[in-house]
Amino acid sequence: MSRDTSMAHLHPVFRHKVELLLQELLKAQLPFRIFEGFRSPQRQRQLYSQGRSAPGARVTNADAWSSMHQFGVAADFVLYIDGRWSWDDSGERKKWWQQLHKLADKQELKPLSWELPHLQMRGIELAQLQRGDYPANGDSDWAENMQQAISNWQGLPAAPPLPSGLPVRPPLPAEAPTGNAASINLANLSASKAQVIARDGLRLRAGPGTSFDIKTTLVNGQQVFVLGQSGDWSQVDLQGDGLVDGYSHSGFLQPLTG
Ligand SMILES: [Zn+2]
Repeated sequence: MSRDTSMAHLHPVFRHKVELLLQELLKAQLPFRIFEGFRSPQRQRQLYSQGRSAPGARVTNADAWSSMHQFGVAADFVLYIDGRWSWDDSGERKKWWQQLHKLADKQELKPLSWELPHLQMRGIELAQLQRGDYPANGDSDWAENMQQAISNWQGLPAAPPLPSGLPVRPPLPAEAPTGNAASINLANLSASKAQVIARDGLRLRAGPGTSFDIKTTLVNGQQVFVLGQSGDWSQVDLQGDGLVDGYSHSGFLQPLTG
């Protein structure tokens, strides 16, 4: 799980403050760069387990969905000198970090006392974000990335609600052929039975990817027919009538023999 430095994945209100801060840093000739912006809940969990259930030193006190990074309203700024990241805050460099925090304060960005590079949006609480009370004016770049993070998360704690402002596809014209009619032939290929193995249920989507609309959620243990594969996704038939009802991620479908 790699670091995400994409500005597009930051909430636009926070993104704007970060852009202004980066300009100020450049003007002041302070060599800070964004080391990490948005962070997936999976990556947060991985970092959290370090020094707990996994080897290594503890690097964070926040579990999945408990860091502002999961909501695109936090970023870590680290020194980048001669092509290398540096967390050095000794000697002269101590002043650079102080300067970073001073310039961040001007943009109403809040540091954490125990984590030098971390800056987050001021005036918003984690609990608000966790119940889906997101900052206003989120754009599609931010919202779609949040949607992806939310739909890819199956474990506990439960993912927060989806943000509003997600793009909506225009409906098909009335004369468009139905998806089912075009898919009948696939039923002849290799319809096989499978069972849902996802404790919290498995999403059935309109297409093979998390960007497609959720049609329904299949319950754990439910038996379905798989008509075909599209990458990591299975074409699912719920009734066994050879018609495609949607797509689910194959990793949560256990093939049943016989
Ligand atoms: Zn951070």
